[in-house]
Amino acid sequence: GVDRMSISAAKSSNAVRRKPPPVKRRETPPSSDQESWEQRSSEEAEDEDDGDNHDITMILSKLPKGVDLQSARQILNDIVVRGDEVHWDDIAGLEGAKKALKEAVVYPFLRPDLFSGLREPARGMLLFGPPGTGKTMLARAVATESKSTFFSVSSSSLTSKWHGESEKLVRALFGLAKVLAPSIIFVDEIDSLLSARSSGSEHEASRRSKTEFLIQWSDLQRAAAGREQSARDKKEGDASRVLVLAATNMPWDIDEAARRRFVRRQYIPLPEHHVREQQLRNLLSHQHHELSDEDTEVLVHVTEGFSGSDITALAKDAAMGPLRNLGEALLHTPMDQIRPIRFEDFEASLYSIRPSVSPDGLRKYEDWAREFGERG
Ligand code: ADP
Repeated sequence: GVDRMSISAAKSSNAVRRKPPPVKRRETPPSSDQESWEQRSSEEAEDEDDGDNHDITMILSKLPKGVDLQSARQILNDIVVRGDEVHWDDIAGLEGAKKALKEAVVYPFLRPDLFSGLREPARGMLLFGPPGTGKTMLARAVATESKSTFFSVSSSSLTSKWHGESEKLVRALFGLAKVLAPSIIFVDEIDSLLSARSSGSEHEASRRSKTEFLIQWSDLQRAAAGREQSARDKKEGDASRVLVLAATNMPWDIDEAARRRFVRRQYIPLPEHHVREQQLRNLLSHQHHELSDEDTEVLVHVTEGFSGSDITALAKDAAMGPLRNLGEALLHTPMDQIRPIRFEDFEASLYSIRPSVSPDGLRKYEDWAREFGERG
């Protein structure tokens, strides 16, 4: 069923798990190009007995001729993320980034008629900042809120050591994104795909996926900018509703040409005071705890410099406190006799859970943001 296509390539999130959405049904076979449709149908004949495979067959049949079906299957299996949705409210703070993403992606995807000409949306947006600040969560929320198909890509998922396979994977990715539009192609750690330095023979494959990625992305930008899509293009999907969203913790590693393609570069900073407070309150809200408002205030204060994921890690570690002292008794203590989480648990956890970004490291982001980014 859905699971076959729901490889969760994205990083785990603490967002509330929600019911996965139904697999998109595409019932209509392409009206023309009957020949390739029939030919492909028979190639995939063994799949016809299963509903979801039937969907996959439908999707594959809409791909342009040059796209390798085996690569497309691989992309569908490993890279299209379904279920485990993230919504705006799951993400603490980052109001400016949310606003920018709504304007740049969500509204144009939902109302393409309003966003043409001068209002033509950007085709790519870079989210940069320290690790664990919610870049992946934002990308997933964008996909949920714009009702888009979410392709979660990393450099390694597009690189094959077999000659020519990397290009095929990249072409399949963009082909599928158009067929399943509106689509978000999310590239995590884009620095490793578009790195300024990749030389030597072992980097040959990654250099090829980089080159092909840039070619495909340009084609997409051209098709979308022209809007005058040929009949052929239309049948092969909607290029104007495919967006590349990328995230990086190392924006300075992206080469200049690639950097310039991201018209929008959004800084995702460490959480400020009120955001840490909101996140801590969120994390504690469903827990049995004894922290007063003053205790929380102290925690907000001492977690200055923590990222969102550092704060999550801290709260998780502290939540283990009440169980740690139990020893073997843990196995037969009734739930209602487990003591609440206390401030002392957080104090103890603060010894082991430290911020993952140093003040020096932070300065590097601030500098890059000042030079190349937008804040919000
Ligand atoms: P990034 O992509 O920036 O490295 P992620 O989006 O993968 O970071 O975040 C990692 C984890 O940290 C999330 O799953 C979540 O638990 C927590 N987290 C980070 N930022 C936030 C935030 N702004 N609000 C809520 N949780 C966050």
